[in-house]
Amino acid sequence: MSDTQTASQKFEFQAEIKQLLDIVIHSLYTEKEIFVRELVSNASDALEKFRHLQLTEKNLPDDPRPLEINITTDEKAKNLAIADSGLGMTSAELVENLGTIAHSGSKAFLKALGENGQKNASLIGQFGVGFYSAFMVAGEVRVTSRSWRADEPAHTWASDGSGSYTIEPAPADTPRGTSIVITLKDDCADFATDARIKHVLEHYSAFVSFPVNLNGKHVNTVQALWLRNKNEIKDEEYTEFYKFQAHAWDEPRLRLHFSADAPLAINALLFVPQENTERMGLTRLEPAVALYCRKVLIDARPKDLLPEWLRFLKGVIDCEDLPLNISRETMQDKALLDKLGKVITKRFIKFLDEEATARPDAYNPFYQNFGIFLKEGAALDHANKDGLTKLLRYESSLTEKGKTTSLADYVSRMKDGQTEIYYLAGATRESIESGPYIEGFKSRGLEVIYCYESVDEYVMNNVREFDSKKLISADSSEIKLPDAPKPPSDDALSEADTKALADWMKTTLATRGVEEVKSSDRLVDSPALALNADKFMTPHMRRMMRAMSQQNKGEDNTAPAEPPLKVNLEINPRSTVIKHLAAAQKAAPEKAALIAEQILDNALISAGLLEDASKMVARIYKLLETA
Ligand code: ADP
Ligand code: MG
Repeated sequence: MSDTQTASQKFEFQAEIKQLLDIVIHSLYTEKEIFVRELVSNASDALEKFRHLQLTEKNLPDDPRPLEINITTDEKAKNLAIADSGLGMTSAELVENLGTIAHSGSKAFLKALGENGQKNASLIGQFGVGFYSAFMVAGEVRVTSRSWRADEPAHTWASDGSGSYTIEPAPADTPRGTSIVITLKDDCADFATDARIKHVLEHYSAFVSFPVNLNGKHVNTVQALWLRNKNEIKDEEYTEFYKFQAHAWDEPRLRLHFSADAPLAINALLFVPQENTERMGLTRLEPAVALYCRKVLIDARPKDLLPEWLRFLKGVIDCEDLPLNISRETMQDKALLDKLGKVITKRFIKFLDEEATARPDAYNPFYQNFGIFLKEGAALDHANKDGLTKLLRYESSLTEKGKTTSLADYVSRMKDGQTEIYYLAGATRESIESGPYIEGFKSRGLEVIYCYESVDEYVMNNVREFDSKKLISADSSEIKLPDAPKPPSDDALSEADTKALADWMKTTLATRGVEEVKSSDRLVDSPALALNADKFMTPHMRRMMRAMSQQNKGEDNTAPAEPPLKVNLEINPRSTVIKHLAAAQKAAPEKAALIAEQILDNALISAGLLEDASKMVARIYKLLETA
């Protein structure tokens, strides 16, 4: 025991940390100064945690030292020291926190790097690799720390960032808290000047809620912004706060600053960032809205406070009604947190709704980027389904390309007697409009919502209805359309002939998965269309499944088997092709069978359901021979 108390011990960094350090040190990262922000924010976190302990721990040793951050520069020695009187670290915590990749920021950073497959240095800013950013400028970093726990001795952690670090006992009079001394590399020596650090602090650390002193002189910091009157806050202040609080580089896209007295006393300041990094292919976002009670940080990343779909939000929620030692374990506290989450969520949805009306120029690009989260919420967050469904926007058969409509506007345009909201999934406007499904709706002046994203169909299925009107896919066999305006000279196949033809086609095509053939009420020009007869598998889902199994083919190059196709065919008795088929069925049954099968294949192509086109080519040659 006494050995470890007195001697310096050497440790290897965890492999991931080595990788991280390698990237941090060797990336040509231009904004090296962010390391100051990272270390000051760690000091501030440590102070926040200690302040929280003061309020919750009963047997905290007396210590009159002020809660503050002291920064000193030594130009001659090329040194910079950042010291806080926060909660400090034990030697085990030094190992755990600074030698392994236990904390979220760096983990997410490495994962993103892995997924991006490149050493993209700008990611550092987005994730804040935190403590390790010191090695961008440091030849050596020494961290001396004493934990707030009464019987824990102080230790010094030291490393040059190359692969290992040491831990040794620190003097017995080391005060509680952490002091980080950085010996700067020669080309970074200007960080040991008062002027440079002052400049950096003014830029990045204005919102630290503890006094910051530089070389003994107080540096101005700003009071908790979310508690101030919003009429007195400038846009730039909000932006600076956002950058500080969310460790962000961008300007916030949207901002909501509100306070409420009932049912809870809340001050909240919420931001939507510029980019949806999940959409850019980076890792799944984690909740990032910090929870405070009267300026005391309770949880920087509370899980389950807000619903999952709000994981893109940044900012601060301060609720006066929370007990400081709040715990999810007690029923009462859990109920309180649930209530808080609900109030904030409702308020944010209301805000988006107001933005959509008052500032569509801001809402629409927001929706382009973050709409996917609203869709996720509409599909999964039952409590907020209606509010979220109102926020969705889609192109439709009545909008221009690139312009969108809300479901509320759709409903306002519904025809007399129309009881359902129609939508159709497809990759593009062109592919939807060139298919046979849309013609029957267009000819009756019925609007159809166009769904381009692969999640849309899932969302529509889950949302089910809007404003008491059922959402239904336009290619569903359940739809019964009202009578279409009849063409003037109706030389269509008679009802009896159509019925006979349909029955014959059903028998002829039974082996191809056709379950029913009937006269169509929705075709205008096309001879036939295929309707999905599988309740559990829409055509769009089938297409997606096929695309996915293409990607996931196993080693033996096989994909999981798709369920056999089940379709209903509708035929158009006014179509010349169908009339010819009826004639051929009597005169040349063999040729008619070929034509029937070709009509089916054409309908399947339009539905994106044709699996194997090779037979089709042979058939067409056969048909050409008889021509
Ligand atoms: P993050 O701040 O995102 O957790 P960092 O790399 O900045 O990641 O810090 C790693 C961990 O080291 C922190 O979570 C904290 O536990 C510990 N730490 C860093 N600086 C201090 C400090 N000044 N006082 C106490 N603990 C600290
Ligand atoms: Mg940090």
